[in-house]
Amino acid sequence: MNIKARAQKIAEILEKENPAPKTELSHSDEYQLAVAVMLSAQTTDKKVNQVTPALFKKYPNWEVLASADIDDVIPLIRQVNFHKGKAQRIIDAARVVVSEFGGNLPREMPKLLSLPGVARKSANVIMQELWGVAEGIVVDTHVSRVVFRLGLTTQTDPKKIEQDLMKILPQRYWRNFSGNAVLHGRYICTARKPKCGECPLNSLCPSAFRV
Ligand code: SF4
Repeated sequence: MNIKARAQKIAEILEKENPAPKTELSHSDEYQLAVAVMLSAQTTDKKVNQVTPALFKKYPNWEVLASADIDDVIPLIRQVNFHKGKAQRIIDAARVVVSEFGGNLPREMPKLLSLPGVARKSANVIMQELWGVAEGIVVDTHVSRVVFRLGLTTQTDPKKIEQDLMKILPQRYWRNFSGNAVLHGRYICTARKPKCGECPLNSLCPSAFRV
């Protein structure tokens, strides 16, 4: 089976297991999801979910966050990694959303990328979760590991991995593959002890039972 057929089969198996993967970041609107995604860089979703209730209680929308004092925000998100830089970036992003986009999260990738604290991975998550739009494939630490083990890329740089995946997977798979590959890496193809014995992809995986 060539790599494109294998990638497609993998995407289909994951999709059968979970037809509508959703982020595990708690949120109830666009503002909350975008801020949670910004806070989640190099931090677990679980950790982010522990800090966001108090953060969103005090800062319920972009307008209020835009006028926040960083010294008041830092203590609320202290449990997440790089909290000082992230506190500054979510305030800066709120100021840009309010001043440049009328208080609404922009829906185009280039405009999302203009927000402080939003890199391509975050923009992909936001667009896919909020609007079901897949302009790319989310590549985080879990996806990087999973697709490398599956032999779908030999790259280690997330941008190059995304390019490889976009070449071998038709666009209709991108949204669900992103969500499913994240969850697969988080719960089955884990970093230290992948559960190859219970993995639905093991017959298609060159690394099965070898890592
Ligand atoms: S077979 Fe093992 S290494 Fe391959 S994707 Fe599944 S859990 Fe990961």
